[in-house]
Amino acid sequence: MSAALFPAALAALAMTAIVALRYLAASGAFAFATRRVRPGLYNGMAPQIRREIGWSLASAAIYGIPAGIVAWGWQNRGWTLIYSDPAARPLWWMPLSLAAYLLAHDTWFYWTHRWMHRPRAFRLAHAVHHASRPPTAWAAMSFHPIEALTGAVVIPALVFLIPIHVAVLGLVLAIMTVMGVTNHMGWELFPRRLVHSRVGEWLITASHHQRHHERYSCNYGLYFRHWDRLCGTDRGIGTL
Ligand SMILES: [Zn+2]
Ligand SMILES: [Zn+2]
Repeated sequence: MSAALFPAALAALAMTAIVALRYLAASGAFAFATRRVRPGLYNGMAPQIRREIGWSLASAAIYGIPAGIVAWGWQNRGWTLIYSDPAARPLWWMPLSLAAYLLAHDTWFYWTHRWMHRPRAFRLAHAVHHASRPPTAWAAMSFHPIEALTGAVVIPALVFLIPIHVAVLGLVLAIMTVMGVTNHMGWELFPRRLVHSRVGEWLITASHHQRHHERYSCNYGLYFRHWDRLCGTDRGIGTL
């Protein structure tokens, strides 16, 4: 037991470093792009950006610890339903598992996010995220520890429930990282043609999430708009 505890703690520490570096690289890259695409957009926001980075690095530990322990258990104890041999399951399972992970994460996010907009939970936790007015590319993980915890458990729980190829899991994490950053950076990355298309109307990009940060009580979703539409909380997209 104690012999296992040390490497598991080391894995948690290593994963924290990976999550922190991933955040700094992704947010840094899009903050750099923002300077090119929208010069001056973050002018005068240095104090807010410092707070966003501080909360995000604290969140990196909260995300890194459970992920690191589960990754250690996967490697050393045969935990999880993560597989690395592509032939272990039919090929069609790869896109299906990708969709299942994104839909499950989106559902969890929509309902916990709505809960965090109840007055007590908002004051206690979610106010940290909304202190970014407007958010920047650095706000991607700017959460109070309670909110970070609700986000950190999702993927480590799903890998015990839904089989996934390790490369598809990497894709899920990449999508999560890029959308987390770009939805907050204050300008639309995706072409108007896509955002306003029949498919785009069901997807969440910066134009949709920016409106959540402006109006608070609408547009709660993460990747998809079906929960917002179904529950009457979708207020369309803003112009960025
Ligand atoms: Zn946000
Ligand atoms: Zn919110």
